[in-house]
Amino acid sequence: MSQTPDSAVRTYIEQHRTAFLDDLVEWLRIPSVSAQPDHAPDVRDSADWLATKLKETGFTTAEVWQTEGAPAVFAEWPSDDPDAPTVLVYGHHDVQPAAREDGWDSEPFEPVVRGNRLYARGAADDKGQVFFHTLGVRAHLAATGRTTPAVHLKLLIEGEEESGSPHFRALVERHAGRLAADAVIVSDTGMWSEDTPTVCTGMRGLAECEIRLSGPDQDIHSGSFGGAVPNPATAAARLVAALHDEHARVAVPGFYDGIVELTERERELFAELPFDEDQWLRTAKSHAAHGEAGYSTLERVWARPTAEVNGIGGGYQGPGSKTIIPSTAMVKLSFRLVAGQDPDHIEKAVRAWVDEHVPDGIRHQTVFGAATRPCLTPLEHPALRSVARSMGRAFGTPVRFTREGGSGPAADLQEVLDAPVLFLGISVPSDGWHAPNEKVELDLLLKGVETSAYLWGDLAEHWRDAP
Ligand SMILES: [Zn+2]
Repeated sequence: MSQTPDSAVRTYIEQHRTAFLDDLVEWLRIPSVSAQPDHAPDVRDSADWLATKLKETGFTTAEVWQTEGAPAVFAEWPSDDPDAPTVLVYGHHDVQPAAREDGWDSEPFEPVVRGNRLYARGAADDKGQVFFHTLGVRAHLAATGRTTPAVHLKLLIEGEEESGSPHFRALVERHAGRLAADAVIVSDTGMWSEDTPTVCTGMRGLAECEIRLSGPDQDIHSGSFGGAVPNPATAAARLVAALHDEHARVAVPGFYDGIVELTERERELFAELPFDEDQWLRTAKSHAAHGEAGYSTLERVWARPTAEVNGIGGGYQGPGSKTIIPSTAMVKLSFRLVAGQDPDHIEKAVRAWVDEHVPDGIRHQTVFGAATRPCLTPLEHPALRSVARSMGRAFGTPVRFTREGGSGPAADLQEVLDAPVLFLGISVPSDGWHAPNEKVELDLLLKGVETSAYLWGDLAEHWRDAP
């Protein structure tokens, strides 16, 4: 099949943009704040609203899936081509809390258009970016004359993302059969800037632990006993000091085992991004860049694993002095992980390192929380190329590539469904996610619609190139 004529897609979007925006505004009026129990009925309303709208769009199945917490929405629209690939779109319909008095210029759940921007909680994160797929798939059908999408299209829109997705993994595991897909498209991210469209190719993973150190059975006199028994606060400080070497590399043996190194091509592409380190430092509220030797700031944040001290404590912290050897001390550490790192291996390596570094006479306990795996799709992957090509057609300029330093539930989809994860988002840093006056740029939102309109045909056409 030849490529969709771009003008047909654009005409269709132009003809339907008003109705599309009216619908989005209606959805944004529902305050689906998952973190606040008072809003639980609104989160349910939001899920019902979306399921109804997806049926109207043409999805043959649209169901609200209950969880232990807030409901998700699943929808499906099979292709009439049985050999077409299956694509699952992920997003979320819950939003961060918002109140006028937080600094909003208008009511957060009374959407308003000012200039060419739509202001409302959820406009960018994530209702706008979920919703652009509805007009996108309609434009795809209208422009190609198809009656079903060129791919088997599935949507999973969760209701607890802003609360840490506590039941998401279980939901995906329970419905793994129905969610099965050849590729996952996550539309809950952004791009570099208004004039630099980018596709994110991966996110880091996360492992966290607390190390509890105990010395004397109670705080004891530093004159009567000091210098003759081990001090847990000293042990905590020595552990923290031993975490990195002089090149700011993580010094836990085995930490870097198996990692997928940046390719030369990726390094070149990152280096071409219009990155302003001074500006970035202002955003980071920091006064110098610092990190692993041999890597740029963007590489350090996006593509290198890290260890950070999130907290350290122990002993007397009140006014004046208290001459004691404290009984206990603690350290909280977090590790951002990149592709190839296995959280279980990291846990073992960190435990062995703690055992090695804590002196005799200090008892210790290391407690790990739940980990998030990293995800990464190689630049050559045909699905990634389809996303980049479709976005390039919509924006009229070649897209560049980024990664994301944070961690998210996308990794669960990658792991449980054993499918590559691609990120398609049109939000920009100024959109104010989680902040007052969240907005979405209407031009970019419609570019999202257009990208989605090109993507399904492109994926179906190029899928056979897949390894
Ligand atoms: Zn989000």
